Amino acid sequence: MEVAKTVQAMRRLTNSARRQGKKIGLVPTMGALHAGHISLIRAARKETDFVVVTIFVNPTQFGPNEDLDRYPRQLEKDLEICDSEGVDAVFAPDNEEMYPKGYRTYVEVHELQNLLCGASRPGHFRGVTTVVLKLFNIVQADVAFFGQKDGQQALIIQQMVRDLNVPIEIRVCPIVREPDGLALSSRNQYLDPNQRAQATVLHRALEKARQAIEHGERDGGRIQRLLEETIRSAPDAVIDYAVVVDPETLQPLTALDGKVYLALAVRFGDTRLIDNMQVEVPTLRAGG
Ligand code: AMP
Repeated sequence: MEVAKTVQAMRRLTNSARRQGKKIGLVPTMGALHAGHISLIRAARKETDFVVVTIFVNPTQFGPNEDLDRYPRQLEKDLEICDSEGVDAVFAPDNEEMYPKGYRTYVEVHELQNLLCGASRPGHFRGVTTVVLKLFNIVQADVAFFGQKDGQQALIIQQMVRDLNVPIEIRVCPIVREPDGLALSSRNQYLDPNQRAQATVLHRALEKARQAIEHGERDGGRIQRLLEETIRSAPDAVIDYAVVVDPETLQPLTALDGKVYLALAVRFGDTRLIDNMQVEVPTLRAGG
């Protein structure tokens, strides 16, 4: 496995793979790799011949009062994981390499970037789209793999790729969960044992809402209240948002029909967790 720290070294690796006719897969991460990231690496290995994992804690997607400084960093361990998963190359640049002095260009996906996580984290998605487009241009992969865990991020990146004609295919892979339902996240390690036990409420709330929809509930407001009430049953949970929205526009839904997207962001102390679920609304039988 090769490790590139500079754009030039990374380009050399992918250029050489491309010359050998290999299909290149890209898995962008912020490191602190867990089974969620590994599922993306495995999907990339299945579909492509040369897998590049990028590890970069991108400062432009963190707000001034967010967890940039305490975000977990464990490059040596991450490199071991990548190596054992058969990754071909890791791109692990420093901040200077990605944002040299005089850096001025940002990418914005209007509207979608201001909803849900964008409402409580102003500038977050602008940082994400900027770094992801840079990584696309540096690696020049054929296919990039993202997790449904960050569903709004995946939606925004797909919109950016369409709008800017970026020559790359996007795959969105399912959420990997702990046995008790908690979605894997590098931020789970911030939780104390009590918060960790309460954090299962996110997935429980999504499941309850899904079941209610399956049993015939079609009122978006009532589903939203069900999500909120369930989350509030955890004494330390503070809701950032718990919404029922259209999976494409992220606009609130009142009458549920077709596909709906349930999305949650909940704080436990200083730790903000997100989770989501897409639900296909069953068509009601006539007279039913
Ligand atoms: P991060 O390192 O948190 O920026 O995540 C890097 C990529 O891994 C993103 O595309 C995430 O959506 C994806 N990812 C993170 N956690 C999970 C998970 N539990 N299941 C699936 N994908 C995940």
